[in-house]
Amino acid sequence: MYQFINGSIRQGSSAQTHDVVNPATGAIVATVDLANEDDVDSAVAAARAAFPAWARTPPGERSAILHRFAAILSERAEEFAQIESSQTGKPLRLTRNFDVPGTIDNVEFFAGAARHLEGKATGEYSPEHTSSIRREAIGVIGSITPWNYPLQMAGWKILPAIAAGNTIVLKPAEITPLTSVMFAQALHDAGLPPGVVNVLVGTGTEVGAALMAHGDVDMVSFTGSTAVGRTVMEAAAATTKRVHLELGGKAPFVVFEDADVDAAVHGAVAGSLINSGQDCTAATRAIVHRSVYQEFTDKLAERFRDIRLGMQEDDGADIGSLVSFKHRDHVAGMVERARGYAKVIAGGDIPTDGALAQGAFYPATLVIDAAPESEIVKDEVFGPVLVVLPFDDDDEAIRLANDTVYGLAASAWTSDLQKALRATREIHAGCVWVNDHIPIISEMPHGGFKQSGFGKDMSAYSLEEYTQVKHVMFELTGAAEKDWHRTIFA
Ligand code: NAD
Repeated sequence: MYQFINGSIRQGSSAQTHDVVNPATGAIVATVDLANEDDVDSAVAAARAAFPAWARTPPGERSAILHRFAAILSERAEEFAQIESSQTGKPLRLTRNFDVPGTIDNVEFFAGAARHLEGKATGEYSPEHTSSIRREAIGVIGSITPWNYPLQMAGWKILPAIAAGNTIVLKPAEITPLTSVMFAQALHDAGLPPGVVNVLVGTGTEVGAALMAHGDVDMVSFTGSTAVGRTVMEAAAATTKRVHLELGGKAPFVVFEDADVDAAVHGAVAGSLINSGQDCTAATRAIVHRSVYQEFTDKLAERFRDIRLGMQEDDGADIGSLVSFKHRDHVAGMVERARGYAKVIAGGDIPTDGALAQGAFYPATLVIDAAPESEIVKDEVFGPVLVVLPFDDDDEAIRLANDTVYGLAASAWTSDLQKALRATREIHAGCVWVNDHIPIISEMPHGGFKQSGFGKDMSAYSLEEYTQVKHVMFELTGAAEKDWHRTIFA
């Protein structure tokens, strides 16, 4: 039973099941029942019923529950890491050191942030009135998450929403639902009232679409592809729901001529291959000054050839498998097509020997000589694939960096302050790193520009997004006829 509705685990009503597969081995990890539209109605009704009391719960009490939840997650960290690895194919090194601690830090951040919502200064902005601001919870949030960081994404959506006093129905990607359900159960164990957080395991086209279109959902928050994000926006329009979208990316990694090339090579390995490249902020287009292009490309190709693929328990593994065989074939297909117009100088071949051949593995792959308008440069691969493009002057570097419909993240590698400042100002992306690529922190917002969406996850910006601002105005004088009446009415 995998539906978490109104504080308890239930069977989905669809009469259908889905096998959650460990993509590193092909083994079935769990068989989950799937929800249908009836379950969407039940979960939204539970969230609606829980909303008034939760919104009135003092921030200090909401915060205390989240602090207890952080303690529970810390105690159960290894269990979460194991299950996150087995449903995604990630090495335990990644889930133990990144996914789980990152989520616990996020819980602690929002436990504190819950007490920091405040209005701006109350005061007299007209001679006859005192004005103040109330920041109020919005209501029932419908949320949908992808498969690349299931646990972290559940945290990014659930935590700010409930810290601000909303209730939520979350639908994780059906191929990786396990840790999202565990997350909700553990929140309940920490004292969260029934109905505040509900998790539905179901397909995007049935449960996801029904949740986004539901008339009693007040706001939708979605992380996933730009294509599905558009349909979410259309569905939300019918009842003018608030919309928060975190969509695709195609991050540039700009190496200027004065960059420390060795540092850039290290940065490109970590920045493009983290989570096997299944990261919306991963470096995908290295845009490199021609004077250091050869050195950068040679050194990076050597490092890419040394990248070890491995099973989740293998401490020597740099990267795990991709999330599914279907996705591995999508990545391989893009690289195969690229061979027709570009050069693959590292990786590019699906492992055919030993245990790796049983899983959805794909090697670190470096592509050069691709035209800026080619598919591998323009479209999301969402795998361990980096394309290197040369540039001759800084104007061209900035132009190439911005030559994408996406705008989620970017990095600039340079020791020249002016170049760094120019890149941070002129690259259109929600985050620009200088001399690093990937780090995220709970205190700072994550979110896109352009077709990477709008809205912010993490940070106080995210907390504010799950609130609505109300202006409250008190008349001060008590006069029956106000001054402003006389200026308009005879
Ligand atoms: P996806 O868009 O295919 O699926 C995301 C979620 O939407 C899943 O839960 C899926 O079941 C659901 N869904 C599918 N069709 C739906 C529909 N018609 N109505 C409602 N819900 C539907 O994306 P994915 O393949 O799971 O994830 C990869 C994508 O997510 C990439 O494009 C990546 O860049 C993006 N992503 C973005 C961020 C970010 O913060 N911007 C973070 C992680 C992933």
